[in-house]
Amino acid sequence: MAHASRLLDVTDHSRDSAGLAYVYPVVSRRAGGVSVGINLNPNNACNWRCVYCQVPELRRGTAPAIDLPRLEAELRAFLQELRYGAFMETQVPPDARRLRDIALSGNGEPTSAREFEQVIELIGRVRGDCDLPADLKLVLITNGSLIDRPGVHAGLHRMAQLNGEVWFKVDSVTPAGRLRINGTRMSLRRMQENLKLAAAACPTWLQTCVLQIDGRPPSDSEADAYLRFVEELRGEGVPLEGVLLYGLARPSMQPDAPRLAKVDRAWMDAFHERIRATGLAVRLNP
Ligand code: SF4
Repeated sequence: MAHASRLLDVTDHSRDSAGLAYVYPVVSRRAGGVSVGINLNPNNACNWRCVYCQVPELRRGTAPAIDLPRLEAELRAFLQELRYGAFMETQVPPDARRLRDIALSGNGEPTSAREFEQVIELIGRVRGDCDLPADLKLVLITNGSLIDRPGVHAGLHRMAQLNGEVWFKVDSVTPAGRLRINGTRMSLRRMQENLKLAAAACPTWLQTCVLQIDGRPPSDSEADAYLRFVEELRGEGVPLEGVLLYGLARPSMQPDAPRLAKVDRAWMDAFHERIRATGLAVRLNP
């Protein structure tokens, strides 16, 4: 998903920069490497509508039917190019000439693709056939709303065997906050259940974006609710890897963009500390 935060630090995030339908490179100097992005939503459709979403002309909907042979051909060709072609030398700064991960992160919710499980199988097959670094990660960036679909859940189990990681979006745990920020009415209970399913299947990080709306950072009650939520998960023994905590770094492509701003650094640092105090690891990208 153009789960916006994923794209915060990229130098080139144009989906069609390699002229491919599903596969695109993300070059990140800050992260020191190249990520191979897989976009299962070339139709710019998502079941959520986050205020900060960077997808242009975002519309409500699901991924279209995926042309699996085409996706496989593109992935093989692009990995081949990265390993043996000129891409690294001509397109990537010297300090980032490293393949970092394969990431399911496109212009909408990737798990809305009916072929999700087959896509994971396909990635596993291609990975097995190519001479790739053993520690290469497979990252799924998701809003988590469809994890309870059998095909998605099965795909996560398969991901765990492929050095997989799930980045599960949790920006707010109040109904009003989730409606305002994510444009979803999905219940907190379902989100919690899906999060537990994800964490039991595959290493899972919470992915949390904090921002100001109309000049106001998240309210005290929002922040407290989030921390209680995290503490409860820990109390129940849900095996979370930690929290990826992001600020707003790139402009939203949605109509509410003018109402949004970054929270200030002091707010972010204080929230970071409060999450860390629960015992969870936090990776901060302010
Ligand atoms: S979940 Fe939100 S940020 Fe991600 S693609 Fe959908 S609307 Fe955009």
